[in-house]
Amino acid sequence: MPIERVLAEVDRAAGEIIDFAQRLIRIPTINPPGEEYEYCANVIGDQLRAHGADVQLLPAVGRIEHTPQHPRINVIGRHAGAAAHAPAIHLNGHFDVVPTGNGWTRDPFGADIADGRLYGRGACDMKAGIAAAVFAAEAIKRAGVAPAAPIEISGTVDEESGGFAGVAWLAEHRFLSRERTRCVIIPEPFGVDRVCIGHRGVYWFEVVAEGRIAHGSMPYLGINAIEGMSHLLDLVRDELGPALFGRVTTMPVVPEQSRHATININGIDGGQPVDDTPSPCVADRCRVVFDRRFLVEEGLERTRAEIAALVVKAQSRMPDVSFSIEDRLVFEPTQTPEDAPVVGALTEAIAQVTGRKASLVASPGTYDQKHVARIAGVPHCVAYGPGQLDLAHQPDEYCSIEDIVSATKVLALAVLKLSS
Ligand SMILES: [Zn+2]
Repeated sequence: MPIERVLAEVDRAAGEIIDFAQRLIRIPTINPPGEEYEYCANVIGDQLRAHGADVQLLPAVGRIEHTPQHPRINVIGRHAGAAAHAPAIHLNGHFDVVPTGNGWTRDPFGADIADGRLYGRGACDMKAGIAAAVFAAEAIKRAGVAPAAPIEISGTVDEESGGFAGVAWLAEHRFLSRERTRCVIIPEPFGVDRVCIGHRGVYWFEVVAEGRIAHGSMPYLGINAIEGMSHLLDLVRDELGPALFGRVTTMPVVPEQSRHATININGIDGGQPVDDTPSPCVADRCRVVFDRRFLVEEGLERTRAEIAALVVKAQSRMPDVSFSIEDRLVFEPTQTPEDAPVVGALTEAIAQVTGRKASLVASPGTYDQKHVARIAGVPHCVAYGPGQLDLAHQPDEYCSIEDIVSATKVLALAVLKLSS
């Protein structure tokens, strides 16, 4: 039976999978600024080539982030199937990691193994996932199964900073497209028995309040923009916040608190610099950046209109201050239909490998699925991979070794089913 043979090949390759994950963790692909991308893309490319895949290294030419100091290099390996022109099953992982931060008790790039855990920055988010994807395809090959559809594995850059030179670039250049790609699985760390079908929307915007400068000893001669902004912040806290908390999505977002619509005040800047020698001036400008995560039920237009109305209300409380709103980053919510074949293949594989019933979840934040859906136009994209989501970006990040092997098995069985 192909299934048993594939599972046995994953078990046999367990040491190689962990070793490959360790090699990836030891490359400090810190983003920002995007260190060691070229080297890491080559390490992934070499492994895929050793497995017999056709490998392409793809610099994100045309993106401003792609510089001589910090080149943005993506990599795709393709195992041709019997039906070479059929749309591919595509597994995509980002190989950038966030900075280490404080609080580590281990070398963040040491890839230590202790108590059945593999430690390091990127262990769960998501170098273990990349190793699982690379070896899932290899296990199918080693089992002597010839899939009909091609299987592609990509390693991409910059997911942590929006993915524009990574998955978005691949989609813009049609390496991911409706014609070429049947479905995409992103092995982000949602856990061995959870499939992530989408995420909430993002509306990042800034509001600028402008007043009039005057001498700080005679504030009545000026118009204080910070004071104006404080009216908006009051409204966000007292009116918008409670209203958002009352809205709950039917999407299975985890953690549960994120089933509500939310808003965060990301940053504020206004008036005179506080660290330099202060000059006695009325603050004539104040700028706040907000991060509003909206529900599929709310939609972008309603979300925008609600913010605009709130700003008008703030202005009515201090009419001399003028307010303006500017979009910073907008992503629609995405949701793969629960009856998509890729969802069915993964949930069946999870039951086969773990004996547990899979749960479908959605993500509070966005990840590269947005580019797959929006630019590539591939509607069937999910995230499934080893690791615990809440360990991502934390000190002493780790991934359970048992989970890495189990997730490799699940990916292999799902890909086997989808590609046959
Ligand atoms: Zn990630």
